[in-house]
Amino acid sequence: MPISSELLEILACPMCKEDVELKDEEDFLLCKKCDIRYYAERFPDRTSCPKCGSDLEKIKGEVLVCVSCERWYPIIDDIPHMLPDDLRDDLK
Ligand SMILES: [Zn+2]
Ligand SMILES: [Zn+2]
Repeated sequence: MPISSELLEILACPMCKEDVELKDEEDFLLCKKCDIRYYAERFPDRTSCPKCGSDLEKIKGEVLVCVSCERWYPIIDDIPHMLPDDLRDDLK
């Protein structure tokens, strides 16, 4: 199930409360070991996981990007992960 437009409308950036924009088919770098994904656009030179050093796998995914502060929140298994900064340091 894709994320609905109704849900998208009530979602807001937890940091600045501004709107978020849905982007699908974005490139992500996935660390299978840590189960962490990095937004490839923000980490153009990254080839290995900064946490465990494993090689990263390129995957496609959906992401919500704040129109104001440009923080990004991955959508994993149709669930938006609207985590504040202190819980998602490695996702910045
Ligand atoms: Zn890792
Ligand atoms: Zn924001």
